[in-house]
Amino acid sequence: MELEPERALDRLVRELGKEKVLTGLDETLVYETDSSNLMGEMPLAIVTPTSVEEVSKVLKICDEEGVPIVPRGSGTDLMGGAVPASRGIILSLSKLNRVLDLDLEDSCVVVESGIITASLSEVLMEHGFFYAPDPSSKDVCTIGGNIAHNAGGPHCLKYGVTSNNVLGMEVVLPSGKVVKLGGKALDPPGYDLQSLFYGSEGTLGVVTKAYLKLTRVPESRRTLLAAFKDIEDAGRAVSEIIGSGIIPGALELIDKASLDSLAVYSPDRFPKGMDAVLIIEVEGYEKVIDRMAERVVEICKKNNVSLVKVAESEEERESWWKGREETTGALGIYAPTFLDEDVSVPRSKIPETLRRLYEIAKAYNVIIASVAHIGDGNFHPAIPFDPKDEDSKMRAFAAERELLKVCVEMGGSITGEHGVGLSKKEFMSWMYGERELELMKRIKKVFDPKGILNPGKVFPSEKGD
Ligand SMILES: Cc1cc2nc3c(=O)[nH]c(=O)nc-3n(C[C@H](O)[C@H](O)[C@H](O)COP(=O)(O)OP(=O)(O)OC[C@H]3O[C@@H](n4cnc5c(N)ncnc54)[C@H](O)[C@@H]3O)c2cc1C
Repeated sequence: MELEPERALDRLVRELGKEKVLTGLDETLVYETDSSNLMGEMPLAIVTPTSVEEVSKVLKICDEEGVPIVPRGSGTDLMGGAVPASRGIILSLSKLNRVLDLDLEDSCVVVESGIITASLSEVLMEHGFFYAPDPSSKDVCTIGGNIAHNAGGPHCLKYGVTSNNVLGMEVVLPSGKVVKLGGKALDPPGYDLQSLFYGSEGTLGVVTKAYLKLTRVPESRRTLLAAFKDIEDAGRAVSEIIGSGIIPGALELIDKASLDSLAVYSPDRFPKGMDAVLIIEVEGYEKVIDRMAERVVEICKKNNVSLVKVAESEEERESWWKGREETTGALGIYAPTFLDEDVSVPRSKIPETLRRLYEIAKAYNVIIASVAHIGDGNFHPAIPFDPKDEDSKMRAFAAERELLKVCVEMGGSITGEHGVGLSKKEFMSWMYGERELELMKRIKKVFDPKGILNPGKVFPSEKGD
């Protein structure tokens, strides 16, 4: 199909007005990339609709004129998913950001998809509720982006990832048709089309509205720090805590290489000379919360913990979480930048996987520092390197490839929550055979027959691509 960019732009301006179709270099330049820093094609225009009707018009025009569209929330994608792989338009959902219906009786809130994830909590907290999925980027990223990536975070062990917290959605298809999938009531009949949108990375349709599940803020919580000289012991403690029936609200592991950098960056935060630190947050009714914390302490002691303690004040709790947040910045002591990986393996395999990663680090003479949402097996190994030193860069990339292979061998995934985008599409054939990929491609064709939605993403390149 012949691309008609000029005609498409004329039609877009006629339908939406000039102020919603930005074409100036100063406006389009920043949309060449996202948080991955990968550079794509310069967009023809940034289109900023303010209603679902306008989203529908944009899709219809671009579909008829054969112009590629990259849907975009806040551009915090770390894998290049929001980078334009071919010349087309960026469809920014940032102006669709309203709360449409707060239904406390049915524990549901209906929002437009461009709303910032954390801003929702501000609305909900005053009613004693929260929206559970909490990616670290929650102060910036959008609900639409969270759905497109099935985003997760520390709370997801207990409350599930995005797909477990969305009841329904409104989606606009490339034809411009608007469809409603699911809603406030549970368990709609027929094929679960909604589930196709989790992890679809903007390739099937544009999410414009979401029906989100509300969770009650727990009455009480206790936060514990447990430091281990042997990471295997930490792994066993985690399995036993969960096996005992306690599902912590958050359960995070910081490994030795990360602790070593933190020891330089903020020396008083965590105990020195440890192989692993766990931050464990238990939540529930005031009457039972201390018993839960005691049980966690007992399990850690049984597994040779060197130090375990319950936070004595909010300041102490915040200091531990601040330490967890600082792990990324602290890597600066090793090198100017780093490869930020996101993988998952079955929970019980994390200690063994980390051991294999240390072997890779040794073989390639790099550092691999990891933090893990260990409760659900998702972890983020980082490989610091010097971008000005070609050798350092090549070793980091080679180690990263080996690391991904190990995670697949362990029965895990090449991505836990950051998606595939451009960066990992070639590794999709490590996860799936021809048949599975072919099925996915056929689904893509059903939703987007002309292939205008976020082309060049998710699927491995084909010959001549
Ligand atoms: C510092 C940092 C920390 C992060 N921590 C986490 C974390 O803890 N957990 C986690 O899961 N992720 C994390 N991420 C990754 C990222 O923030 C999430 O994937 C987030 O969900 C992306 O949202 P966004 O609004 O920025 O989407 P964008 O980056 O704009 O887009 C992401 C993808 O979704 C598509 N898309 C966006 N909006 C829509 C829509 N309305 N309809 C259809 N497709 C759409 C885009 O085309 C693109 O493919 C982190 C990123 C950063 C930079």
